[in-house]
Amino acid sequence: MWKRCLSGSQSRSARHRIVSTRSTAAGKPRSCRATTHSPLRVTASASSSSAAARQAPASMGEEDLLVKFGIGDAHCHPQDDPAACAAGLGSLSARYLAVMGTRADDWEAVEQLSRREPGKVIPCFGVHPWFAHRHALESDQVAHPASLMDTPPNGKDDPSRHPELMSGPPPTAPETWLPRLRGLLRAHPHSVVGEFGLDRAAVVPGTRLQPSWSHQLALTELHLRLASELRRPASLHCVQGYGHLQDMLRRLGPEGCPPKIMLHSYGGSVDLIKGFTKLPGGVGDRIYFSFSSVINGRQGRTKLLQRLAAVPVGRLLLESDQCSPTRVDAGLRDILAAAAEARGVGLEQAAAEAAEAFRDFYADSLTRMAREETAAAAGGAVTAAAGEAEEEAGDAVAAEEEGSRRQEGG
Ligand SMILES: [Zn+2]
Repeated sequence: MWKRCLSGSQSRSARHRIVSTRSTAAGKPRSCRATTHSPLRVTASASSSSAAARQAPASMGEEDLLVKFGIGDAHCHPQDDPAACAAGLGSLSARYLAVMGTRADDWEAVEQLSRREPGKVIPCFGVHPWFAHRHALESDQVAHPASLMDTPPNGKDDPSRHPELMSGPPPTAPETWLPRLRGLLRAHPHSVVGEFGLDRAAVVPGTRLQPSWSHQLALTELHLRLASELRRPASLHCVQGYGHLQDMLRRLGPEGCPPKIMLHSYGGSVDLIKGFTKLPGGVGDRIYFSFSSVINGRQGRTKLLQRLAAVPVGRLLLESDQCSPTRVDAGLRDILAAAAEARGVGLEQAAAEAAEAFRDFYADSLTRMAREETAAAAGGAVTAAAGEAEEEAGDAVAAEEEGSRRQEGG
C-alpha cells in the first residue's frame, strides 16, 4: 500500500495510478500514496498511532530494541524515495528491509537497492493490485485496455468516458513482464514474491473505474503458483477480498500454495484470522499476519489491538509499509509498542518475538544472504557469485524459453 511517493515515481503515467477507496477520508479519495506515503499519510499515521507513539519513545530509552533484537521490516517500499536510499540504509536501526516491488516499472529500483545493500535488503518482486490493469495476461488485453477495468457497480462511470486512458500507453504485454518477473526471482534466489493480491476498493485515479476483479484474481493465483513453484514466501495485499483469498488458498491446496504466506497490513476480522490458520492440508500453518501503524493504526486502536492479540505467537510480523527509509524505524517502533500492549507483554518480549517471527518467515533469504556475506568476508565472493550467476543465468534463459513457448502456444 502507499501513495504519493508512488505517484511521484510514476509521474509519466499518472493517469494509470490507483486509489484505494478504503483509504478515503470523509468520502474524499486520496491518491494511492496518500494512504501511506504522502504528507496525508504522515498525518494519518501521526494521529492514529499517537497512542502507540506515546508508549514508544523515539529512542526506545537507553537501548534501541530494533538493534538489540535485530528486528526487520517485513514489508516496505523505500525505493520510492531514491534520494534517501542513495544516502544508504546503514544508519537504520531496522536490521533488514523486505523491499516490495509493485509493478514492472519499479522492479529495477528494488533490484538496484538490494545490490547496493546486500546484507540489509531482501528484494521482492510482484504486481500490486493497484497496477493490475497495467499488466496484461493475454494479448487481447493489450489491444483493449478497457477489458482490464470494471465499471463501478453504480454504473456512474464507463471506459468510454476516458478516451485518454484508452489511447495512452497500453498495458504491458505478458510476454514482456512475465518472463522478467520469473527471471528476477531466479536471478535473486533470496528474493520473495510480492507485493500482489486483491483490492476490491481500488479505483483508477481520475475515474470511478476499478482494476478488473477477475483480472486481479487471475494475477493473484499466478503469483501464488509462481511462489509455490519457486519455493518462495509471498507477501499479499488484501482489501475486501479475504473470503476470495481463503477460497483460492483452499482450492490451490498445499501443492499450489507458497511455503509461507504473509497477509500484510492485515485488515480482516479476528474470525478470519482463525479461518486462515485452520486452512486444510497444512496451508494454515504457512500463514503469517503482518501489521503496520500507518495502515492498521488508521482503522482504530481497539481493532488493531484485537487483531494483534488474535494472531498466534510466532506468526506475527511487524512492518512499516513506508515508502521512505527515513520513516522505517519510527513505523516499526510504533507497531512494536502496539504489539506489546495487545499481548500484555513488555517491549523486550514483544521485540524478541517479532525478531524471531521475521527470521522464521524470511529464513531462506537470510541464510542465503549470510552465505554471501561469509563468502565475501573470506574473499571467495567472486567465486561464489560467479558460480551462482552462471547457474541463475541458465535458469533465466530457461525461463525466457518457457515464456516464448507459452507465447507461441497461445
Ligand atoms: Zn505495500
